[in-house]
Amino acid sequence: MDKRTKIVATIGPSCEKSKILEEMIKSGMNVARINFSHGTHESNGKLIDNIRHLSEKLKIPVGVMADLQGPRIRITVDKEVEIETGEYVMIGDTSLPANFQFSILNFKSISNDKNLKFIKLDWDNIIKSISVENELLIEDGLMKIKVVEKKDNLLLGKVINGGTIKNHKGVNIPDASLKVSALTEKDENDLKYALRKNVDFVALSFVSNAKDINSAKEKIKKILDRKTNLPKIVSKIERKEALKNIDEIIMASDIIMVARGDLGIEIEESRVVIYQKEMVAKCLRAGKPVIVATQMLNSMIENARPTRAEVSDVSNAVIDHADAVMLSGETANGKYPLESVKTMVEIINRTEESPFDDLKHGFLGDSKSSVSAAVANSAHELAKDSGAVAIVVASVSGFTAHMIARHRPQQNILVVTNSEKTHNQLSILWGTESFILPDCRTLDELIDESKKTLLKSGVLKEKDRIVIVTGRPHVKREHMSLVKVEEIK
Ligand code: PEP
Repeated sequence: MDKRTKIVATIGPSCEKSKILEEMIKSGMNVARINFSHGTHESNGKLIDNIRHLSEKLKIPVGVMADLQGPRIRITVDKEVEIETGEYVMIGDTSLPANFQFSILNFKSISNDKNLKFIKLDWDNIIKSISVENELLIEDGLMKIKVVEKKDNLLLGKVINGGTIKNHKGVNIPDASLKVSALTEKDENDLKYALRKNVDFVALSFVSNAKDINSAKEKIKKILDRKTNLPKIVSKIERKEALKNIDEIIMASDIIMVARGDLGIEIEESRVVIYQKEMVAKCLRAGKPVIVATQMLNSMIENARPTRAEVSDVSNAVIDHADAVMLSGETANGKYPLESVKTMVEIINRTEESPFDDLKHGFLGDSKSSVSAAVANSAHELAKDSGAVAIVVASVSGFTAHMIARHRPQQNILVVTNSEKTHNQLSILWGTESFILPDCRTLDELIDESKKTLLKSGVLKEKDRIVIVTGRPHVKREHMSLVKVEEIK
């Protein structure tokens, strides 16, 4: 049996060559993440075309995820600024006039100092959302400035941790309630482009609440002028505010990403793992796939082997029941992209062979849920009791596969679908393998064709016992009502 936990790999200069990408797909990469913070539409478009081409050639579904940059605040300085611990600095934003004079200011905390260093945030009117006592964390938290005074649209900050401020570095302001939309103008342009390229997943950065996700979904429907066959929305949880609103965010999203890089700046690093465990559990209960991301094998950017701690990190994410684990810099700009994928596969396989990733009885809770959830539950129980080797799901949208996968069954989940989109989107869902099936007119034809397809592909053999879950073909809303034990002949 193939590994059950999926791998998302970020595509960048280190792995964009077809040869390496092909080997990564063959080795077990399931989803290609294109980071729209980098590259141009042309270069990112080429990556997407290449992935689609390889996926077709290898006959392996690969999901394509467009990760939008989101409202990332950055520093804008003409030249590097050295800030020393204990000194005061002035902070403004792009709404300041170009000929602005520092000397006219009278901050109470300092005597008028013409040599006060000045740092500009690359965002219009962002200062309005920042208050005294807020902290600005620069370049992944390497430098810290605490706001001590605010005057009009300027801040006076005291440097808590000094360093060298470079142009374009990211800034996190964890306690500020930032009045920024999760989709910037750049994101809207990137989104339009990604939709033209027919991506399977759109990842939203720095979401704060369900409204961010709902408005992005509406925008996508409007751009595509349709309500079905849409990309799945991945909400990246990387803001303190998102943690507060996590339940509504999970409800509104299709998929959650535990984006530990920024999250570890916004909250104490020591709390990230606890939130990771909580989020994965909540997603599993809700039947929403969840990705654990960032720094999983970080040292493999430079080294051919990971550290013991990194191996434990991947293994523990599998034990937490994540649907997918993610590689970022390791594959995008590291020296060992293919080795990183292979290492991840090895760790996943070893962990899944152990009993530690098995779902504890009662973990999903006693949810009084839908008919589909009840059908999925029956299919799982029946598969266990009948000694079936696989659960076969005939599905248009993949919804029932999600409901079955949350039980983390020992049996393979084989999904047959007539939707190319669903086929690709299942690439992120734990434990599933999907197959394209032509349209069928009757239920008997659907069952027969499913069995034939799976037999031909080699995932099932004669005399294998399976549990089939399906509804009637051509019914508008997915309504799975049939659960049946069958033998392959
Ligand atoms: C993260 O912060 O963990 C993350 C995945 O976001 P990005 O890599 O886009 O900064």
